[in-house]
Amino acid sequence: MIYFVGAGPGDVDLITVKGLKKLQEADVIIYAGSLVSEEHLQAAKEGCSFYNSAKMHLDEVIQVMKEAVQDEKLVVRLHTGDPTIYGAIQEQMDRLIELAIPFEVIPGVSSFTAAAAALPREFTLPGVSQTVILTRIAGRTQVPEKEKLGELAKHRASMAIFLSVQDMAGVVEELREGYGSWDIPIAVVYRASWPDQRIVRGNLADIVDKVAAAGIRKQAQILVGDFLEGDYQLSKLYDKSFTTEYREGI
Ligand code: SAH
Repeated sequence: MIYFVGAGPGDVDLITVKGLKKLQEADVIIYAGSLVSEEHLQAAKEGCSFYNSAKMHLDEVIQVMKEAVQDEKLVVRLHTGDPTIYGAIQEQMDRLIELAIPFEVIPGVSSFTAAAAALPREFTLPGVSQTVILTRIAGRTQVPEKEKLGELAKHRASMAIFLSVQDMAGVVEELREGYGSWDIPIAVVYRASWPDQRIVRGNLADIVDKVAAAGIRKQAQILVGDFLEGDYQLSKLYDKSFTTEYREGI
């Protein structure tokens, strides 16, 4: 059996209880060494084998899984954050389906929620935005034309931009075009939940220089939108005059 486990954004305590239990039971752990804390490996039982997938290609990962399953071993494939977001797990799952190897995905705390928690701000403010867009700019992986940042910005929804801080100038250029303004709040959260976490706040006009001055070039979330500051409406959920399924309004 293979378990794809979300390790969480960095802080080892942010793995789920279910994910941690699987780590403790695993005979083989294949972990994404570039972003997953090696501290997670201390949870493993004695005799567990470790593979750092940063140094492996897809065929090698599948081969390790296949051999382990043949020996009736339990495999944990440990991904950073939540495995379903930029985790490249679909290609692994499809190969396992072809090989008739059973697997399960155990979700994790994504870095986009860890980044909002660090600020701390809520993405979904009544009267501001009820939508969160998760996206990235193109790198070696292309992004469909219809999803260019400038197009997405036109929605004025709350946004979390992954895998893009290395090109802050490009990000800001596209956002400015879409928003039609420089006066848009933006925050960059470097290594959310790690001990060396850093936060840089600004607007589209000054964030490029601030991020450069902070020396942040990777492992950061870029959060954009009016949810970062300013007014919003109070929720209906906790409005005292509002009747809900659980509470009579007064
Ligand atoms: N599956 C992961 C994302 C993997 S893609 C998740 O759910 O978070 C890797 C990108 O995620 C990085 O380039 C960065 O943009 C973001 N990221 C991962 N961990 C991060 C952290 N602790 N703080 C800020 N951004 C992080």
